[in-house]
Amino acid sequence: MTETSILLADIGRARPAATPLQDVHVPADGQLLDRLARPLTDLRISVTDRCNFRCSYCMPKEVFDKDYKYLPHASLLSFEEITRLARLFAAHGVRKIRLTGGEPLLRKNIEALIEQLAALRTVDGLPLDLTLTTNGSLLARKAKALKAAGLQRVTVSLDGLDDAVFRGMNDVDFPVTDVLAGIEAARDAGLGPIKINMVVKRGTNDQEILPMARHFRDHYGGAAILRFIEYMDVGATNGWRMNEVLPSADVVQRIGAELPLVPLEASAPGETAQRWAYADGGGEIGVISSVTQAFCHDCSRARLSTEGRLYLCLFASQGHDLRPLLRDGASDADILSRIGHIWHGRADRYSELRALRGPDTGGEAGPRRVEMSYIGG
Ligand code: SAM
Ligand code: SF4
Ligand code: SF4
Repeated sequence: MTETSILLADIGRARPAATPLQDVHVPADGQLLDRLARPLTDLRISVTDRCNFRCSYCMPKEVFDKDYKYLPHASLLSFEEITRLARLFAAHGVRKIRLTGGEPLLRKNIEALIEQLAALRTVDGLPLDLTLTTNGSLLARKAKALKAAGLQRVTVSLDGLDDAVFRGMNDVDFPVTDVLAGIEAARDAGLGPIKINMVVKRGTNDQEILPMARHFRDHYGGAAILRFIEYMDVGATNGWRMNEVLPSADVVQRIGAELPLVPLEASAPGETAQRWAYADGGGEIGVISSVTQAFCHDCSRARLSTEGRLYLCLFASQGHDLRPLLRDGASDADILSRIGHIWHGRADRYSELRALRGPDTGGEAGPRRVEMSYIGG
């Protein structure tokens, strides 16, 4: 049986047979490559499937209502289980860990998890690049404690400066001033450079592009990097339509017409954002063009769900359950081997295939995709 056929047969099984580590062909530097020769360098860990916002593009109210069944506490990975997996991923070459969700700051005592993760080292003996993505609602209260626990940086999502637009997009009437206070607290705590993520929906908040660019340039300069994300067809509940996507090229053109921009080199391979600098040295912005310019060719990200399933793509419909290994007494070598096999079998490139099929084919029927609030953005 080939390695690939073992993998496919194993998906969803509770307890795959352990394979000796030496059979996984882990290179001496710990670097794993998938079937498209992409390394595994980046792990996103969802620490909760709950959120206090109801952004229509992620957790629409009609679906995530009071009857929605969230994961029971016992099925969540504990901090010790998350840290053990993170250590093993680091042994396989992971250098960057991003905590996400749902809203990660809703997970009780998240600072304790950050402390444990901050103590881990890469294969080169360096601290991991440890960061977190948040909607910012609890950041003003928590920024100092997060920094003290060892968090290095933070990404804050903010879809506009106009209070009515922002309240409408988070759909729980949350005011923009509280998120702005969170961003300031993060800067004051030293959690920078802060990245600000704005999902752009044509006809909903695209009029906020320039006010956002001006605000973060004028108030933060190089201390904040505003990134514009194309609205994506993630999950199965957001009713995505191509005509609501504003291509990143249009975002760059709109900003550049008022504030001239020059392209920058990517700072690391596998980086999701294309970088642009203000020509006068006033800082930089990024655009994440997953719909109009897919970047699967160097995607080095894996995602670990709140209950321990490993997903190889944001658009996957199935994950590989690692929790039984953790709870049934598997050794570190067993788990390393399992992760190695899973990554070796990876050939996911959803966004590139969507682009090949034609621009308006996202969100169409097929295996039901997992929700972003479950595996993390
Ligand atoms: N709750 C946190 C937050 O909003 O920052 C972390 C989780 S959220 C799922 C992670 C990121 O995914 C956020 O920046 C969010 O804006 C983005 N996101 C969610 N749904 C999206 C969609 N349909 N298209 C593009 N980005 C999306
Ligand atoms: Fe919550 Fe983040 Fe999803 Fe908005 S994008 S609903 S804040 S998880
Ligand atoms: Fe990576 Fe999947 Fe996104 Fe492509 S579509 S960049 S493989 S997560």
